[in-house]
Amino acid sequence: MTTPQSPLVTPIDRPVLVPPNGHNKVLLHSCCAPCSGEVMEAMLASGIDYTIYFYNPNIHPLKEYMLRKEENVRFAEKFGIPFIDKDDDYENDRKEWFEKARGMEHEPERGIRCTMCFDMRFEKAAQYAHENGFPVLTSCLGISRWKDMKQINDCGHRAVAPYDDVVYWDFNWRKGGGSARMIEISKRENFYQQEYCGCAYSLRDSNAHRKSQGRRPIKIGVLYYGDESTQYEK
Ligand code: SF4
Repeated sequence: MTTPQSPLVTPIDRPVLVPPNGHNKVLLHSCCAPCSGEVMEAMLASGIDYTIYFYNPNIHPLKEYMLRKEENVRFAEKFGIPFIDKDDDYENDRKEWFEKARGMEHEPERGIRCTMCFDMRFEKAAQYAHENGFPVLTSCLGISRWKDMKQINDCGHRAVAPYDDVVYWDFNWRKGGGSARMIEISKRENFYQQEYCGCAYSLRDSNAHRKSQGRRPIKIGVLYYGDESTQYEK
């Protein structure tokens, strides 16, 4: 079974997605435009009524945070998707993130610092879902091949556990060509191309790795998918 396609959605046949328990109202926790683009198009193609929830106090520095958020807002506006920008207490949320990460500064990616990071973001999203009538919470975080999907799904299920009116939808957005479409959409939309996961420690470690390979450090705000004029020697 396939769905009719909006002219703005990647023109492919997709299976119809049905959120858990047949619900049609979903809160999508999003970290950036490249990770959420395919998830957004997949849900649009299935006629799912969803809202984006952007809460990512892990992203550092502020310039990078704003770039990621603005790209996400730009794409949501294109489709008229509601966008909840949860940064009314950004400075305190950032401080809280750093406090929670204390002692885990040198943990590797996919380790316990990342579990804390997913937990913190999903807990806020689950609370919002509960308080605002969203029976389903999902996330685009797992679409990246750099992430541990089980780790993310465990955090998602844990976040909704206190609420009997919210379930976590642990759909594998990578499957059925989702990973490839994530890149395709990013190129089509010329999304900002981030070069590290997001936090200060991932920026530090990515730069250390690059240095060990004789590559130049990350430049924030420079690369855009599909725009060769912005590419530099990585
Ligand atoms: S590496 Fe990524 S997921 Fe892990 S703590 Fe940093 S920003 Fe969060």
